[in-house]
Amino acid sequence: MSWEENVKKVVPYVPGEQPKTKVIKLNTNENPYPPSDKVKHALEHFDIDSLRLYPDVNGGELRTKLSEVYSVDEEKIFVGVGSDDVLAVAFLTFFAGKKPILFPDITYSFYDVWADLYDIPYEMIPLDDDFRIKKEDYFRPNGGIVIPNPNAPTGVEKSIEALEEIVSKNKDSVVIIDEAYVDFGAKSMLPLIDKYDNLLVVQTFSKSRCMAGVRIGMAFGNPKLINYMNDVKFSINSYTMNRLTVAAGVAMLEDSAYFEEMTNRVIATRERTKVALRELGFEFPDSKSNFIFARHKQVAAKEIFEAAKKNGIFMRWWGKPRIDNYLRISIGTDEQMDEMIAFLKEYLK
Ligand code: PMP
Repeated sequence: MSWEENVKKVVPYVPGEQPKTKVIKLNTNENPYPPSDKVKHALEHFDIDSLRLYPDVNGGELRTKLSEVYSVDEEKIFVGVGSDDVLAVAFLTFFAGKKPILFPDITYSFYDVWADLYDIPYEMIPLDDDFRIKKEDYFRPNGGIVIPNPNAPTGVEKSIEALEEIVSKNKDSVVIIDEAYVDFGAKSMLPLIDKYDNLLVVQTFSKSRCMAGVRIGMAFGNPKLINYMNDVKFSINSYTMNRLTVAAGVAMLEDSAYFEEMTNRVIATRERTKVALRELGFEFPDSKSNFIFARHKQVAAKEIFEAAKKNGIFMRWWGKPRIDNYLRISIGTDEQMDEMIAFLKEYLK
């Protein structure tokens, strides 16, 4: 068909499966716990009449509340429909140069998809054999840098001192630190956004704030960065943050005690799971996220992945070079992890 010549052809990002049946779902790094009761209350008392009106273009009360909770001026905050939306806008905004942008070879598999979509040249920088980022690899000419911390799908944390060096040695490009998993025990770069005008820190409500289904992500950076992102966003769709989302997000931010409790619970379960997996013959880089990236010393990851799935336990596996013998296992509740471990014990016997 001749119109196909004019089609933008892309290889899309493939999200983890969302099965319709009830399974033990350890494949997409969601939080196993529900949002705070305050979210329920806010939605039950939501002013339905207000849905008549367009929402605030900057996220309104959600941005105000974020400013309060994170002690960052509102003009330094950008909110979007999950951090995928925030990152997509950031790629489009900051990576318009001719030089290649840099990111690790093993990392969030959406980065190369956006780069291809927006015709951004890129170089994937190999992690070392222990899945570590070597900071020196990023001290070279580039059109921008994006690094998740902790990295995904490895769960490995990079020290903020090393990341700061990457930011400070790359003053001519924007450095995006994707902190989707930072609340599970890693250190945030947020305190450095006033020191470096080329640093953008991106976070999300999908993991530590138990709200992947609501779709809220945010970026923190100096007002100039945020203004440039808004120019791009307002050239696509100004009203990304709907009123229901804003109400749910504000309510979740109001319950910091719940946020801390659930985050600590996931961390405790992760640490228990590490011990159990090691006893079963798995090895993995130390994780500071809500998942563990593990391989078994004898049994192929693909086999375990398929057997687990047959038994209603979903994990994530990629048949990609360097990582095709690894499973990414999200941290669920203690009960879910016990069931997963019981299955593995039986299977590996
Ligand atoms: N960054 C990383 C590293 C991720 O793993 C994810 C989750 N798929 C995201 C960003 C996007 O998450 P969300 O759009 O739900 O905020």
